Amino acid sequence: MWKDLGMDLEKHDEFLAPVPEVYGKLFMAQENRPKGMGYFDFVVGDIHGIRVKELVDHKANGGKVVASFCVFVPDEIITAAGGVSIGLCAGAQFPVPTGEQVLPRNLCPLIKSSVGFKLDRICPYFQVADFVVGETTCDGKKKAWEILDEFIPTHVMELPQRRAEADKALWMEEIRRFKEKMEKESGVAITAQKLAASIKIANEKRAALQRLYNCRKADPAPISGKDVLLISELAFFDDPKRFTQQVNALCDELETRIVRGEGIAEKGAPRILITGSPMPIPSWKLHAIIEGSGAVVVCEETCTGTRYFETTVREDGATLDEQLAAISERALNINCACYTPNNGRIEDILRLVKEYNADGVVYYNLAFCQPYSIEYRKVEKALQEAGIPVIKIESDFSEEDTGQLQTRIEAFLEMLDK
Ligand code: SF4
Ligand code: SF4
Repeated sequence: MWKDLGMDLEKHDEFLAPVPEVYGKLFMAQENRPKGMGYFDFVVGDIHGIRVKELVDHKANGGKVVASFCVFVPDEIITAAGGVSIGLCAGAQFPVPTGEQVLPRNLCPLIKSSVGFKLDRICPYFQVADFVVGETTCDGKKKAWEILDEFIPTHVMELPQRRAEADKALWMEEIRRFKEKMEKESGVAITAQKLAASIKIANEKRAALQRLYNCRKADPAPISGKDVLLISELAFFDDPKRFTQQVNALCDELETRIVRGEGIAEKGAPRILITGSPMPIPSWKLHAIIEGSGAVVVCEETCTGTRYFETTVREDGATLDEQLAAISERALNINCACYTPNNGRIEDILRLVKEYNADGVVYYNLAFCQPYSIEYRKVEKALQEAGIPVIKIESDFSEEDTGQLQTRIEAFLEMLDK
Protein backbone atom coordinates (compact mmCIF):
# COMPACT_ATOMS: atom_id res chain seq x y z
CA MET A 1 0.00 0.00 0.00
CA TRP A 2 2.78 2.44 0.96
CA LYS A 3 4.63 1.88 -2.31
CA ASP A 4 1.43 2.36 -4.32
CA LEU A 5 0.87 5.65 -2.56
CA GLY A 6 4.32 6.82 -3.63
CA MET A 7 5.49 7.48 -0.06
CA ASP A 8 9.09 8.29 0.84
CA LEU A 9 9.25 5.58 3.50
CA GLU A 10 12.61 6.49 4.97
CA LYS A 11 11.61 10.09 5.52
CA HIS A 12 8.19 9.01 6.75
CA ASP A 13 9.72 6.84 9.47
CA GLU A 14 12.09 9.63 10.45
CA PHE A 15 9.12 12.00 10.73
CA LEU A 16 7.02 9.68 12.90
CA ALA A 17 9.86 8.36 15.08
CA PRO A 18 9.59 10.93 17.92
CA VAL A 19 5.75 10.87 18.07
CA PRO A 20 5.23 7.94 20.51
CA GLU A 21 7.53 9.47 23.12
CA VAL A 22 6.06 12.97 22.82
CA TYR A 23 2.53 11.57 22.86
CA GLY A 24 3.23 9.41 25.88
CA LYS A 25 4.60 12.35 27.86
CA LEU A 26 1.93 14.85 26.88
CA PHE A 27 -1.19 12.74 26.76
CA MET A 28 -0.85 9.29 28.28
CA ALA A 29 0.93 10.54 31.41
CA GLN A 30 -2.01 12.73 32.48
CA GLU A 31 -3.49 11.59 35.78
CA ASN A 32 -7.17 10.82 36.14
CA ARG A 33 -7.72 11.02 32.39
CA PRO A 34 -11.20 10.13 31.03
CA LYS A 35 -11.39 6.52 29.82
CA GLY A 36 -13.18 7.64 26.66
CA MET A 37 -9.86 9.04 25.41
CA GLY A 38 -8.89 5.43 24.64
CA TYR A 39 -10.47 5.59 21.19
CA PHE A 40 -8.61 8.78 20.28
CA ASP A 41 -5.32 7.35 21.57
CA PHE A 42 -5.95 4.39 19.33
CA VAL A 43 -6.56 6.65 16.31
CA VAL A 44 -3.30 8.52 16.94
CA GLY A 45 -1.41 5.30 17.67
CA ASP A 46 -2.49 4.06 14.27
CA ILE A 47 -2.52 7.44 12.59
CA HIS A 48 -1.09 6.21 9.30
CA GLY A 49 -2.78 2.81 9.39
CA ILE A 50 -6.45 1.84 9.48
CA ARG A 51 -7.90 5.15 8.30
CA VAL A 52 -5.52 5.29 5.33
CA LYS A 53 -6.50 1.74 4.44
CA GLU A 54 -10.18 2.76 4.61
CA LEU A 55 -9.45 5.55 2.15
CA VAL A 56 -7.52 3.28 -0.19
CA ASP A 57 -10.46 0.84 -0.14
CA HIS A 58 -12.89 3.68 -0.71
CA LYS A 59 -10.98 4.63 -3.84
CA ALA A 60 -10.81 1.02 -4.99
CA ASN A 61 -14.62 1.02 -4.79
CA GLY A 62 -14.78 4.06 -7.07
CA GLY A 63 -15.09 6.80 -4.41
CA LYS A 64 -13.10 10.03 -4.29
CA VAL A 65 -10.88 11.36 -1.52
CA VAL A 66 -10.74 15.14 -1.31
CA ALA A 67 -8.27 17.02 0.89
CA SER A 68 -8.65 20.55 2.19
CA PHE A 69 -7.09 22.98 4.68
CA CYS A 70 -9.86 25.24 5.88
CA VAL A 71 -13.20 25.10 7.67
CA PHE A 72 -14.82 27.00 4.80
CA VAL A 73 -14.58 24.04 2.43
CA PRO A 74 -18.01 22.34 2.51
CA ASP A 75 -17.64 18.70 3.59
CA GLU A 76 -21.36 18.27 2.94
CA ILE A 77 -20.93 18.50 -0.83
CA ILE A 78 -18.01 16.06 -0.84
CA THR A 79 -19.98 13.50 1.20
CA ALA A 80 -23.11 13.95 -0.93
CA ALA A 81 -21.08 12.96 -4.00
CA GLY A 82 -19.96 9.77 -2.24
CA GLY A 83 -16.54 11.26 -1.47
CA VAL A 84 -14.53 11.37 1.72
CA SER A 85 -13.30 14.72 3.01
CA ILE A 86 -9.92 14.89 4.70
CA GLY A 87 -8.73 18.02 6.46
CA LEU A 88 -4.98 17.80 6.13
CA CYS A 89 -2.83 18.47 9.12
CA ALA A 90 0.00 20.89 8.72
CA GLY A 91 1.11 21.55 12.24
CA ALA A 92 4.56 19.98 12.10
CA GLN A 93 7.98 21.58 11.77
CA PHE A 94 9.49 18.57 9.97
CA PRO A 95 8.34 19.42 6.40
CA VAL A 96 8.81 23.22 6.77
CA PRO A 97 12.38 23.31 5.34
CA THR A 98 11.15 21.42 2.26
CA GLY A 99 8.24 23.86 1.94
CA GLU A 100 10.80 26.66 2.02
CA GLN A 101 12.43 25.27 -1.12
CA VAL A 102 9.48 26.50 -3.14
CA LEU A 103 7.99 29.16 -0.84
CA PRO A 104 9.51 32.22 0.86
CA ARG A 105 10.86 31.75 4.39
CA ASN A 106 8.89 34.64 5.81
CA LEU A 107 5.55 32.91 5.28
CA CYS A 108 3.16 31.34 7.79
CA PRO A 109 4.49 27.91 8.91
CA LEU A 110 1.09 26.33 8.32
CA ILE A 111 1.35 26.99 4.60
CA LYS A 112 5.00 25.93 4.41
CA SER A 113 4.21 22.77 6.36
CA SER A 114 1.23 21.95 4.11
CA VAL A 115 3.20 22.24 0.90
CA GLY A 116 6.23 20.58 2.50
CA PHE A 117 4.16 17.50 3.39
CA LYS A 118 3.31 17.01 -0.28
CA LEU A 119 6.86 17.57 -1.51
CA ASP A 120 8.33 15.27 1.15
CA ARG A 121 5.79 12.50 0.34
CA ILE A 122 5.46 11.62 4.04
CA CYS A 123 1.73 12.13 4.51
CA PRO A 124 -0.37 9.18 3.30
CA TYR A 125 -3.51 11.35 3.42
CA PHE A 126 -1.96 13.74 0.94
CA GLN A 127 -0.79 10.81 -1.19
CA VAL A 128 -4.18 9.15 -1.26
CA ALA A 129 -6.11 12.34 -2.11
CA ASP A 130 -7.49 12.66 -5.64
CA PHE A 131 -7.28 16.41 -5.47
CA VAL A 132 -6.99 19.27 -3.02
CA VAL A 133 -9.37 22.15 -2.39
CA GLY A 134 -7.70 25.43 -1.52
CA GLU A 135 -9.32 28.77 -0.75
CA THR A 136 -8.34 32.40 -1.11
CA THR A 137 -8.62 33.13 2.61
CA CYS A 138 -5.25 34.82 2.99
CA ASP A 139 -2.67 35.99 0.47
CA GLY A 140 -0.15 33.33 1.48
CA LYS A 141 -2.56 30.47 0.87
CA LYS A 142 -3.96 31.99 -2.31
CA LYS A 143 -0.54 32.17 -3.94
CA ALA A 144 0.70 28.87 -2.48
CA TRP A 145 -2.10 26.94 -4.22
CA GLU A 146 -0.63 27.95 -7.58
CA ILE A 147 2.56 26.16 -6.58
CA LEU A 148 0.85 23.19 -4.94
CA ASP A 149 -1.08 22.66 -8.17
CA GLU A 150 2.23 21.68 -9.81
CA PHE A 151 2.32 18.63 -7.52
CA ILE A 152 -1.34 17.69 -7.03
CA PRO A 153 -4.47 19.02 -8.79
CA THR A 154 -5.73 21.94 -6.69
CA HIS A 155 -9.22 23.38 -7.02
CA VAL A 156 -9.42 26.89 -5.58
CA MET A 157 -12.58 28.38 -4.07
CA GLU A 158 -12.65 32.16 -4.03
CA LEU A 159 -13.78 33.31 -0.61
CA PRO A 160 -14.95 36.91 -0.45
CA GLN A 161 -13.37 39.21 2.13
CA ARG A 162 -16.56 41.05 3.05
CA ARG A 163 -20.16 40.03 3.74
CA ALA A 164 -22.17 42.38 1.50
CA GLU A 165 -24.78 41.06 -0.96
CA ALA A 166 -22.26 40.94 -3.83
CA ASP A 167 -19.90 38.87 -1.66
CA LYS A 168 -22.66 36.46 -0.71
CA ALA A 169 -23.52 36.02 -4.40
CA LEU A 170 -19.86 35.32 -5.23
CA TRP A 171 -19.55 32.64 -2.53
CA MET A 172 -22.87 31.06 -3.55
CA GLU A 173 -21.48 30.79 -7.09
CA GLU A 174 -18.30 29.19 -5.72
CA ILE A 175 -20.42 26.65 -3.82
CA ARG A 176 -22.30 25.79 -7.02
CA ARG A 177 -19.05 25.53 -8.98
CA PHE A 178 -17.67 23.18 -6.31
CA LYS A 179 -20.81 21.04 -6.49
CA GLU A 180 -20.33 20.72 -10.26
CA LYS A 181 -16.65 19.91 -9.77
CA MET A 182 -17.52 17.14 -7.30
CA GLU A 183 -20.16 15.73 -9.62
CA LYS A 184 -17.73 15.71 -12.53
CA GLU A 185 -14.91 14.11 -10.53
CA SER A 186 -17.09 11.46 -8.91
CA GLY A 187 -19.60 10.82 -11.67
CA VAL A 188 -22.31 11.02 -8.99
CA ALA A 189 -25.24 13.44 -9.29
CA ILE A 190 -25.85 15.30 -6.04
CA THR A 191 -29.55 15.16 -5.21
CA ALA A 192 -31.49 17.05 -2.51
CA GLN A 193 -31.92 13.78 -0.65
CA LYS A 194 -28.19 12.99 -0.62
CA LEU A 195 -27.30 16.51 0.38
CA ALA A 196 -29.87 16.55 3.20
CA ALA A 197 -28.29 13.37 4.59
CA SER A 198 -24.76 14.73 4.44
CA ILE A 199 -25.79 18.07 6.02
CA LYS A 200 -27.21 16.03 8.88
CA ILE A 201 -24.00 14.00 9.31
CA ALA A 202 -21.86 17.16 9.44
CA ASN A 203 -24.24 18.89 11.87
CA GLU A 204 -24.30 15.87 14.17
CA LYS A 205 -20.52 15.98 14.32
CA ARG A 206 -20.67 19.69 15.15
CA ALA A 207 -23.30 19.07 17.84
CA ALA A 208 -21.11 16.39 19.47
CA LEU A 209 -18.17 18.80 19.56
CA GLN A 210 -20.38 21.51 21.05
CA ARG A 211 -21.48 19.02 23.72
CA LEU A 212 -17.82 18.24 24.46
CA TYR A 213 -17.03 21.94 24.77
CA ASN A 214 -20.04 22.47 27.04
CA CYS A 215 -18.51 19.94 29.45
CA ARG A 216 -15.44 22.17 29.75
CA LYS A 217 -17.57 24.93 31.27
CA ALA A 218 -17.58 23.00 34.58
CA ASP A 219 -15.11 23.71 37.38
CA PRO A 220 -13.11 21.55 37.83
CA ALA A 221 -12.81 20.96 34.08
CA PRO A 222 -13.48 17.25 33.52
CA ILE A 223 -11.02 17.00 30.62
CA SER A 224 -7.77 18.73 29.70
CA GLY A 225 -7.48 21.26 26.92
CA LYS A 226 -4.79 19.09 25.33
CA ASP A 227 -7.18 16.17 25.00
CA VAL A 228 -9.94 18.33 23.52
CA LEU A 229 -7.51 19.92 21.06
CA LEU A 230 -6.46 16.46 19.96
CA ILE A 231 -10.10 15.48 19.40
CA SER A 232 -10.74 18.65 17.36
CA GLU A 233 -7.69 17.87 15.24
CA LEU A 234 -8.83 14.31 14.62
CA ALA A 235 -12.30 15.62 13.67
CA PHE A 236 -10.82 16.69 10.35
CA PHE A 237 -10.00 13.24 9.10
CA ASP A 238 -11.77 10.50 11.03
CA ASP A 239 -14.93 8.92 9.66
CA PRO A 240 -17.60 11.47 10.70
CA LYS A 241 -20.25 9.01 11.96
CA ARG A 242 -17.80 6.93 13.99
CA PHE A 243 -16.15 10.06 15.34
CA THR A 244 -19.50 11.55 16.44
CA GLN A 245 -20.41 8.36 18.24
CA GLN A 246 -17.07 8.28 20.10
CA VAL A 247 -17.25 11.95 21.09
CA ASN A 248 -20.77 11.42 22.43
CA ALA A 249 -19.63 8.35 24.39
CA LEU A 250 -16.83 10.43 25.92
CA CYS A 251 -19.36 13.17 26.78
CA ASP A 252 -21.52 10.62 28.66
CA GLU A 253 -18.49 9.92 30.82
CA LEU A 254 -17.59 13.60 31.24
CA GLU A 255 -21.11 14.51 32.29
CA THR A 256 -20.90 11.85 35.03
CA ARG A 257 -17.54 13.24 36.11
CA ILE A 258 -19.05 16.72 36.34
CA VAL A 259 -21.86 15.46 38.60
CA ARG A 260 -19.25 13.81 40.84
CA GLY A 261 -17.10 16.96 40.83
CA GLU A 262 -14.20 15.02 39.28
CA GLY A 263 -11.69 16.99 37.23
CA ILE A 264 -8.45 16.74 35.32
CA ALA A 265 -7.20 19.88 37.09
CA GLU A 266 -7.80 21.19 40.61
CA LYS A 267 -11.03 23.07 41.24
CA GLY A 268 -10.19 26.77 40.98
CA ALA A 269 -7.18 26.23 38.67
CA PRO A 270 -6.67 29.24 36.35
CA ARG A 271 -8.90 28.88 33.30
CA ILE A 272 -7.53 29.97 29.93
CA LEU A 273 -9.22 30.70 26.62
CA ILE A 274 -6.98 30.49 23.56
CA THR A 275 -7.87 32.51 20.49
CA GLY A 276 -6.15 33.02 17.14
CA SER A 277 -4.59 30.97 14.34
CA PRO A 278 -5.53 27.29 13.90
CA MET A 279 -3.51 24.49 15.58
CA PRO A 280 -3.46 21.51 13.23
CA ILE A 281 -2.12 18.18 14.46
CA PRO A 282 0.51 17.85 16.00
CA SER A 283 0.87 21.46 17.24
CA TRP A 284 0.35 20.85 20.95
CA LYS A 285 3.10 23.12 22.28
CA LEU A 286 1.05 25.98 23.68
CA HIS A 287 -1.49 23.77 25.44
CA ALA A 288 1.34 21.71 26.88
CA ILE A 289 3.06 24.80 28.31
CA ILE A 290 -0.13 26.31 29.75
CA GLU A 291 -1.33 23.08 31.32
CA GLY A 292 2.18 22.14 32.43
CA SER A 293 2.18 25.41 34.38
CA GLY A 294 -0.88 24.50 36.44
CA ALA A 295 -3.66 26.17 34.41
CA VAL A 296 -6.31 24.49 32.31
CA VAL A 297 -7.33 25.45 28.76
CA VAL A 298 -11.13 25.56 28.72
CA CYS A 299 -11.88 26.84 25.21
CA GLU A 300 -10.27 27.60 21.85
CA GLU A 301 -11.71 30.30 19.62
CA THR A 302 -9.84 28.95 16.60
CA CYS A 303 -10.55 26.83 13.54
CA THR A 304 -9.44 23.81 15.54
CA GLY A 305 -11.95 24.99 18.15
CA THR A 306 -15.28 26.82 18.20
CA ARG A 307 -15.01 28.21 14.66
CA TYR A 308 -15.13 24.64 13.38
CA PHE A 309 -18.46 23.65 14.92
CA GLU A 310 -20.39 26.63 16.29
CA THR A 311 -21.92 27.55 12.94
CA THR A 312 -24.14 24.82 11.57
CA VAL A 313 -26.01 24.44 8.28
CA ARG A 314 -29.78 25.02 8.38
CA GLU A 315 -31.53 21.70 7.78
CA ASP A 316 -34.82 23.10 6.51
CA GLY A 317 -33.82 23.43 2.84
CA ALA A 318 -36.24 21.38 0.74
CA THR A 319 -34.66 21.91 -2.67
CA LEU A 320 -31.07 21.64 -3.80
CA ASP A 321 -30.95 25.41 -4.28
CA GLU A 322 -32.11 26.07 -0.72
CA GLN A 323 -29.62 23.57 0.67
CA LEU A 324 -26.71 25.07 -1.27
CA ALA A 325 -27.78 28.51 -0.03
CA ALA A 326 -27.76 27.18 3.56
CA ILE A 327 -24.26 25.73 3.06
CA SER A 328 -23.09 29.03 1.62
CA GLU A 329 -24.51 30.99 4.59
CA ARG A 330 -22.53 28.96 7.09
CA ALA A 331 -19.16 30.23 5.84
CA LEU A 332 -20.28 33.82 6.07
CA ASN A 333 -21.11 33.30 9.74
CA ILE A 334 -17.61 32.03 10.62
CA ASN A 335 -15.63 34.89 12.09
CA CYS A 336 -12.26 34.26 10.44
CA ALA A 337 -9.77 37.14 10.43
CA CYS A 338 -9.72 37.00 6.63
CA TYR A 339 -12.97 39.04 6.68
CA THR A 340 -13.08 42.81 6.89
CA PRO A 341 -14.53 44.07 9.10
CA ASN A 342 -14.65 41.15 11.51
CA ASN A 343 -16.18 42.56 14.69
CA GLY A 344 -18.15 39.34 15.18
CA ARG A 345 -14.93 37.65 16.34
CA ILE A 346 -14.51 40.17 19.15
CA GLU A 347 -18.09 39.57 20.23
CA ASP A 348 -17.44 35.81 20.10
CA ILE A 349 -14.34 36.07 22.29
CA LEU A 350 -16.10 38.22 24.92
CA ARG A 351 -19.07 35.84 24.94
CA LEU A 352 -16.86 32.73 25.19
CA VAL A 353 -14.81 34.19 28.07
CA LYS A 354 -18.08 34.53 30.00
CA GLU A 355 -19.55 31.17 28.96
CA TYR A 356 -16.40 29.26 29.91
CA ASN A 357 -15.65 31.43 32.92
CA ALA A 358 -12.10 32.08 31.67
CA ASP A 359 -9.68 34.05 33.83
CA GLY A 360 -7.43 35.11 30.97
CA VAL A 361 -6.97 34.96 27.20
CA VAL A 362 -3.91 33.73 25.33
CA TYR A 363 -3.84 35.17 21.82
CA TYR A 364 -2.00 32.67 19.65
CA ASN A 365 -0.49 34.00 16.48
CA LEU A 366 1.32 31.81 14.04
CA ALA A 367 4.48 33.57 12.86
CA PHE A 368 3.84 35.68 9.74
CA CYS A 369 0.07 35.22 9.96
CA GLN A 370 -0.97 38.76 9.14
CA PRO A 371 -4.77 38.58 9.46
CA TYR A 372 -4.65 37.42 13.09
CA SER A 373 -1.66 39.56 13.97
CA ILE A 374 -3.31 42.76 12.76
CA GLU A 375 -6.63 41.87 14.35
CA TYR A 376 -4.91 41.61 17.75
CA ARG A 377 -5.06 45.36 18.31
CA LYS A 378 -8.87 45.39 18.30
CA VAL A 379 -9.22 42.21 20.33
CA GLU A 380 -6.74 43.47 22.95
CA LYS A 381 -8.60 46.78 23.26
CA ALA A 382 -11.98 45.07 23.74
CA LEU A 383 -10.57 42.66 26.33
CA GLN A 384 -8.81 45.42 28.23
CA GLU A 385 -12.01 47.44 28.32
CA ALA A 386 -13.81 44.39 29.71
CA GLY A 387 -11.06 43.92 32.33
CA ILE A 388 -9.94 40.56 30.94
CA PRO A 389 -6.17 39.86 31.01
CA VAL A 390 -4.68 38.96 27.62
CA ILE A 391 -1.24 38.01 26.32
CA LYS A 392 -0.13 37.65 22.69
CA ILE A 393 2.07 34.70 21.88
CA GLU A 394 3.67 34.52 18.46
CA SER A 395 5.17 31.16 17.64
CA ASP A 396 5.68 28.46 15.04
CA PHE A 397 5.83 24.66 15.10
CA SER A 398 9.46 24.39 16.20
CA GLU A 399 10.52 23.72 19.79
CA GLU A 400 13.14 26.48 19.82
CA ASP A 401 11.09 29.03 21.75
CA THR A 402 9.62 26.64 24.35
CA GLY A 403 11.71 27.96 27.26
CA GLN A 404 10.97 31.56 26.45
CA LEU A 405 7.23 30.89 26.07
CA GLN A 406 7.19 28.99 29.34
CA THR A 407 8.61 32.02 31.18
CA ARG A 408 6.08 34.39 29.62
CA ILE A 409 3.11 32.10 30.27
CA GLU A 410 4.11 31.49 33.88
CA ALA A 411 4.39 35.24 34.48
CA PHE A 412 0.97 35.74 32.86
CA LEU A 413 -0.65 33.04 35.01
CA GLU A 414 0.84 34.55 38.16
CA MET A 415 -0.76 37.91 37.51
CA LEU A 416 -4.23 36.42 37.00
CA ASP A 417 -6.60 37.32 39.77
CA LYS A 418 -6.98 33.83 41.27
S1 SF4 B 1 -8.27 30.82 10.14
FE1 SF4 B 1 -9.63 31.35 8.44
S2 SF4 B 1 -8.46 30.69 6.68
FE2 SF4 B 1 -7.55 29.65 8.41
S3 SF4 B 1 -8.60 27.67 8.54
FE3 SF4 B 1 -9.70 29.11 9.80
S4 SF4 B 1 -11.34 29.91 8.48
FE4 SF4 B 1 -9.81 28.97 7.17
S1 SF4 C 1 -2.61 30.88 9.90
FE1 SF4 C 1 -2.90 32.92 9.01
S2 SF4 C 1 -1.34 33.13 7.40
FE2 SF4 C 1 -1.47 30.96 7.98
S3 SF4 C 1 -2.89 30.10 6.50
FE3 SF4 C 1 -4.14 30.68 8.26
S4 SF4 C 1 -4.81 32.79 7.86
FE4 SF4 C 1 -3.16 32.33 6.42
